[in-house]
Amino acid sequence: MPAKDIPVDVIREIVSRALYPAVVDYSPRDGVTCPVCRGQLPHSRMGIYSSQGWSGSVKERYHRCTICGARFKSVETV
Ligand SMILES: [Zn+2]
Repeated sequence: MPAKDIPVDVIREIVSRALYPAVVDYSPRDGVTCPVCRGQLPHSRMGIYSSQGWSGSVKERYHRCTICGARFKSVETV
């Protein structure tokens, strides 16, 4: 498929994922900050779609930003 057939918004999405770190810190108090739109996501709007159990002192959560839709991972440590 010629590159010109790729929708611009798909290209933007790929670029945005490549430019920003996909892992952010999880705060038990404040929630998470989206690495793409920098939106502050409180606990009620974190968009968690998958959560791993604690692995030692680390817990990982997978999010879909409720503001821009970007997917990213958060890490909580004790
Ligand atoms: Zn976002």
